[in-house]
Amino acid sequence: MAEFKVLVEGYARKEDGCSYVSSTTTLIKENGLNIIVDPGMNRELLLESLQKEGLSTKDINYVILTHYHIDHSALVGIFENAEILDDGEIYSFKSTIKNHDGKIPGTDIEIIGSLGHAMFHCSLIVKTEDYGTVVIAGDVLWWRETEEQKTDKKSLIEHKDPFVKNEEQLIESRKKIIDLADYIIPGHGKMFKVEK
Ligand SMILES: [Zn+2]
Repeated sequence: MAEFKVLVEGYARKEDGCSYVSSTTTLIKENGLNIIVDPGMNRELLLESLQKEGLSTKDINYVILTHYHIDHSALVGIFENAEILDDGEIYSFKSTIKNHDGKIPGTDIEIIGSLGHAMFHCSLIVKTEDYGTVVIAGDVLWWRETEEQKTDKKSLIEHKDPFVKNEEQLIESRKKIIDLADYIIPGHGKMFKVEK
């Protein structure tokens, strides 16, 4: 079983004519491994929140990118000892690339394809003792700070994504993760319980 903590709750807001955006960053611990999902682009907030966990960038074994948008991926290079995973591959700072088998190595955490918001996109299925199955969704679901976060099934499936690449795929991805999850961690916004 894994333990997890939302280190940075993703946000997206406009202020003084400028957009302020960074993704949700989640720390997962399983079998002695420290895993970061979507490091985001707020360096100060990320480093501060790691420090609060008693961790430094050197302690992270894997960094997972749900997709390549900069608000999720900008800080990926600061974890000197980590390998980086996306929907299909494992990358190292020795410049190697190899396939993964749908799980984060050494764990039971599944990496599933969840297309629609971006050309390449994946989500994580994390089994936990306290929250059951937690899906770290990336931008399959995300909200601006000005939007009400409605979490009934219909609202989740129909929620407008202004940056959608493929609407049909996005709806399929949403249905898939809603079915799997007890709790969902969105790309921007608050973690919520799925109404069954
Ligand atoms: Zn995003």
